[in-house]
Amino acid sequence: MSHRPETKAIRLQTEKTNQKEHATPLFLTSSFTYDSAEDMAAAFTDDTLDVNIYSRYSNPTVDEFITKIAELEGAEDGVATASGMAAIFSTFMSFLAKGDHLISASAVFGSTHTILTKYLPKWGIEHSYFDLNQPQSIEAFIRPETKMLYLETPSNPGLDIIDMEFVSAICKKHNILFVVDNCFATPAAQQPIKFGADIVLHSATKFIDGQGRVLGGVVAGSKELIYKIYLFIRNTGPSMSPFNAWLLSKSLETLFVRMEKHATNALLIAEKLQSHSKISKVKYPFLKSHPQYAIAKKQMQNGGGVVTFEIKGGIENGRKFLNALKMLSLTNNLGDSRTIASHPASTTHSKLTDAERLSVGITPGLIRISVGLEHPDDILEDIVQALHQC
Ligand SMILES: *Cc1c(COP(=O)(O)O)cnc(C)c1O
Repeated sequence: MSHRPETKAIRLQTEKTNQKEHATPLFLTSSFTYDSAEDMAAAFTDDTLDVNIYSRYSNPTVDEFITKIAELEGAEDGVATASGMAAIFSTFMSFLAKGDHLISASAVFGSTHTILTKYLPKWGIEHSYFDLNQPQSIEAFIRPETKMLYLETPSNPGLDIIDMEFVSAICKKHNILFVVDNCFATPAAQQPIKFGADIVLHSATKFIDGQGRVLGGVVAGSKELIYKIYLFIRNTGPSMSPFNAWLLSKSLETLFVRMEKHATNALLIAEKLQSHSKISKVKYPFLKSHPQYAIAKKQMQNGGGVVTFEIKGGIENGRKFLNALKMLSLTNNLGDSRTIASHPASTTHSKLTDAERLSVGITPGLIRISVGLEHPDDILEDIVQALHQC
């Protein structure tokens, strides 16, 4: 009997973690023992053997988390990492070599941008940026050396959305790996593999943990692709801690209900703020005014938990707004049960010039709200009273 994804996220256990505990057990151990010298020798003869040796290679608690994510993403296999950046970097390192080229959306997470521009060039790997709002431009960037196409949809913080089926058709035609950072939607709202992605990855730190406790990352895809990333991680060390995997595996049990509530709260707040006199523009994937609303509706089951708006009065009022908030948290994280406000232009992206910020969709008054699980009226009241002071 095959259960539905909501049930799998709760019920799935691997044989190794099924020790009759009702809650998922934590295997907090760095290594595993053998019954004999022969078993010990055998464990090292073949990298593909399903035997636990050392927790940098594999661990039952980590495996359970991976198995659940792979199921939810509709992938054959997965591999977990210490953080979202470790997932992204390990994926790049596993498939790109000197002389290779990758095409990336220009609006990507800040540290991803740093890897692309500061680190990959040191190893002779070049990139081209395309605008997520212009998918037709992708083909012009393809070269014989192009090996990978990388993007986030929805993007952080611009909430731009791209038609994954369209991109996947281009990638298949040119034999390019299509990699999607699915951090903003989570598999509870969007499964990129269904739309032709080869590899899906996450910062599990965000909505997957959902409570701002631990860092983690995960990559899902075919057995063949994941095995390459697994070997890179096993040998270079950015593996996930069993303790973090234990928390994240428990978190998946509530992922679907949490995402539903994040999304209903977010949509309600986005709708209410649309008519506010201090705001010039509200963006949310499931608002009809979103430029890619039809694509969002096609590939997402809900609009996710992040809303952005443009406050009138630019950087100055952005700062004033943050200072006037009473309940919302000022922090860089997102995907928490607590609602978080941030103002990229005066914080995470303050070192960029206005033109650089604009090129990645960060306008001076852009406020990003990661809508939490509090009562939506309380969230709204705090936002409205803070706007009143701007
Ligand atoms: C946070 C984030 C990352 C990085 O993840 P960490 O867990 O912080 O390393 C990557 N991509 C997106 C879209 C993110 O929001």
